[in-house]
Amino acid sequence: MTKIGITLHPLTSPDREELDLLARQIAEGVVAAGGAPVFILPDLEETALYAQFSSLDGLILSGGGDVAPARYGEQALPQVGGVDEQRDHTETTLVRWALAAHKPLFGICRGLQLLNVACGGALYQDVSQHAGAIQHAYYPSYPHDYLAHAIAIAPESQLATLLGKTAALVNSLHHQACRTVAPGLRVVAHAPDGIVEAVEITEHPFALAVQWHPEALSQAVESKMLFGALVAASAQAQRESHPPMTQIAQILAGALLDD
Ligand code: MN
Repeated sequence: MTKIGITLHPLTSPDREELDLLARQIAEGVVAAGGAPVFILPDLEETALYAQFSSLDGLILSGGGDVAPARYGEQALPQVGGVDEQRDHTETTLVRWALAAHKPLFGICRGLQLLNVACGGALYQDVSQHAGAIQHAYYPSYPHDYLAHAIAIAPESQLATLLGKTAALVNSLHHQACRTVAPGLRVVAHAPDGIVEAVEITEHPFALAVQWHPEALSQAVESKMLFGALVAASAQAQRESHPPMTQIAQILAGALLDD
């Protein structure tokens, strides 16, 4: 079975109830796509983290609090909240390992922002820093599946190929966004105000991150396609990284003969 790791927020998160629900919905999205979800603690020490990472076929960076602005060389504005430096460190480490190991990677909301910062980009600490920004944060008064704004998807992108379209409506539960996009990341979707809504890494087998929350739009065909694509890419990676069963059988047979 294809194992998909899902990063978790800390117990101390100010929005913990909301994040618990979203984490559960991500796991359900993975299950619906035929994968086996496993959660990754935000403060695992490195040896245990690597052991867990090695056992995974794919990785999801979930939503949550803000990435520490110090990671992109800024002091935090008053609007910044929910920072957990240990989680930032854990997820940055996972991103580096996943990129080095060509392991499929899918980022959601904070996951897109974390990926951008891990690769050398910077964020708007609050979307109000972006000239002409529309509303992107609808919590807590709107339901998570409220379709807040349109996105325009780059026609020649993996995302457009995957979804079979270049326009969609998405939910929006973020108050931060990409300000400077890291080298190596390609912006493949924008909101009408120019805010980055999806990035991908062309050279990687599957590295896609979206600014919206597909797990909270679980009935949307686009959400099913996104989780389905991650699980399919991870299953493919699993087949390529493990010897076929016939080889394993031969090795076992040889070992038995040696006895
Ligand atoms: Mn948005």
